Amino acid sequence: MFKKSIVFITLICSLSACQKPVEYAQFYIFGTLVDITLADVDKVEAQQILAQVQQDLQQMHNDWHPWEPGMLVDINRAFAEGRCAPLDQKLKELIVASQTLEKQTGGSFNAGIGGLVSLWGFHTSDYPIHTPPPSTAAIDKWLQFQPSTQSVYFQGDSVCSSNPATQLDFGGIAKGYAVDLIVDKLKAAGVGAAIVNTGGDLRAYSQVERQYWHIAVRHPQQGLIGLIEITADDAVFTSGNYQRYVEHQGQRYAHILDPRTGRPVSDIVSVTVLASSGLQADAAATALMVAGLKGWHELSKSLQLEAVLVVDEAGKLYMTPAMDARLALYEPDEDEIAEVETNTEKTAKVGWEIEIVK
Ligand code: AMP
Ligand code: MG
Repeated sequence: MFKKSIVFITLICSLSACQKPVEYAQFYIFGTLVDITLADVDKVEAQQILAQVQQDLQQMHNDWHPWEPGMLVDINRAFAEGRCAPLDQKLKELIVASQTLEKQTGGSFNAGIGGLVSLWGFHTSDYPIHTPPPSTAAIDKWLQFQPSTQSVYFQGDSVCSSNPATQLDFGGIAKGYAVDLIVDKLKAAGVGAAIVNTGGDLRAYSQVERQYWHIAVRHPQQGLIGLIEITADDAVFTSGNYQRYVEHQGQRYAHILDPRTGRPVSDIVSVTVLASSGLQADAAATALMVAGLKGWHELSKSLQLEAVLVVDEAGKLYMTPAMDARLALYEPDEDEIAEVETNTEKTAKVGWEIEIVK
């Protein structure tokens, strides 16, 4: 609902591959439509697997939700009151992963900024959001506390924070981690090929010969950029400032916040990261938005990311050589170019300015 889908997906089966039908389910979880497509699996078995996947995702949604009552809300309340709170293994892993990512990104990715996300009005299921931006004094006060996942520690089956201002918010990573957990489960259940797509952020794999996936990457402003072919196993995640924002007095404020300034990021419109895990792709896309046009390339190198696509406000594309190699640019024919004039939704804008950044 909040997220404009950046992809559409096709399963390509060459020759006699894909003999078994494709099974499909859709749920509304994590504030978005989740589509699961299974290939190379029996129908009855697929229905059982999909029902289990839906249950798992619903549990993750309940446990990790930043403002609906559940495990994470209890933990954040405990932190604010200087207490510890119980947690389960999955949430513990999510916290540990977030701590590592905060260090690796030099603080661009900080899952301890729940208080700031809330200050800016994003802890709501109502949309559109028109909350006025917080005052400079409120932002400065938040900055003074330096909330961070580094203040979080574990005591047996409980979690505590030495900083009462640290409030966990996994909005920048939860879908990536969820997708990885589901893919592990599907592989263990013997599903030969699948796509787990959470509102345009996805992981796809195929263990079946001559069967692969095509992911179409849309330009955030208009049209189609191209296709990524996934033959083995890859995650493709996009962060953008057009997906979820507060609109107040004609001004838009993006939901991705720079933990060092306490303010929304602005100069990149979207970042798409292709990586081997959903967790890495999801966190990296968010962190590169924060690093901005000046910093994204250096950060992507230090995170050892290979395939990255950035779109700036003018619609210009920046790509790493690995993304250039993976992304087959969409080149419309004459008729389609003519159609651009009349149907901007359906066809690509031609002639995006592209820079390959080595
Ligand atoms: P994504 O769409 O994956 O980039 O995630 C955006 C969400 O991550 C926001 O809605 C917030 O919940 C959270 N978030 C915002 N800024 C940051 C940040 N700098 N580090 C980590 N999480 C963030
Ligand atoms: Mg993310």
